Amino acid sequence: MKLFDLTGRVAIVTGGNGGIGLGMADGLAAAGADLVLAGRNAEKASSALERLAAHGRRCAFVSADITQAAACRELVAQTLSQFGRLDILVNNAGTSVRKMPQDYTEAEWHHVLDTNLTGAFLCSQAAYPAMKQAGGGKMINIGSMMSLFGAPYATPYAASKGGIVQMTRALATAWAKDDIQVNAVLPGWIDTELTRNARRQVEGLHERVEARTPAGRWGIPSDMAGVAVFLASTASNFVTGTAIPVDGGYSITT
Ligand code: NDP
Repeated sequence: MKLFDLTGRVAIVTGGNGGIGLGMADGLAAAGADLVLAGRNAEKASSALERLAAHGRRCAFVSADITQAAACRELVAQTLSQFGRLDILVNNAGTSVRKMPQDYTEAEWHHVLDTNLTGAFLCSQAAYPAMKQAGGGKMINIGSMMSLFGAPYATPYAASKGGIVQMTRALATAWAKDDIQVNAVLPGWIDTELTRNARRQVEGLHERVEARTPAGRWGIPSDMAGVAVFLASTASNFVTGTAIPVDGGYSITT
């Protein structure tokens, strides 16, 4: 369907070598986009590229630590030199350190904020000139249920994900005149490496999520593909600054 067709578009997905990022990359490639996956783990990336090859689109991995401004600029530069354009940026790379607030070191606080919030900002800033020059673009930031709720073990994570929503609104207002739409997705509880670690560390989490989610299950990365295609395509050209929960109903119940 033309409204959702991404043929000829080029997307960067940070952390696209696994988990939710790969679920979204899969959706974008199925809709016709060429893909650049950015991350640090090349081994994970090569199996992600193998999987994406099934869609018959051009795909590449660029090694980048998105906490570094120079690496974000280099990521965009490599995308432009290999693919010639940049239309879609998915700021998905993220991490968490789970502790009670009184126990975080300053370095742990910065590590989570630098990855989840500053990294998304730096990549957006790096991508802006190419999108402005092309006459438009799409940025998709990944928030969380922790953009809405708190948890005792997630102070820097919740701060970063709350910040993602406000950053999304600010960028959306700034860049609307350039026809760049900036939106956030707030995933519910999705089965990935990140939440496998969470379930090891937080007793009873698996069951609590299952019991509260009206859909009655944890999400899987492919549940994130549809919203990524919508927010990356012309179907969402009048949608900007929003934060869309994709959570099986987790955020609308108690
Ligand atoms: P994963 O741990 O599977 O994926 C995180 C990805 O981020 C990895 O592929 C990793 O790649 C990349 N990454 C981390 N730090 C950096 C860095 N400094 N530079 C570049 N890449 C980095 O977790 P999820 O798929 O679950 O998480 C993806 C996003 O979704 C995160 O922002 C997370 O907060 C968010 N989220 C997840 C939820 C869930 O239930 N799973 C719920 C709500 C939000 P590499 O190892 O190669 O560096």
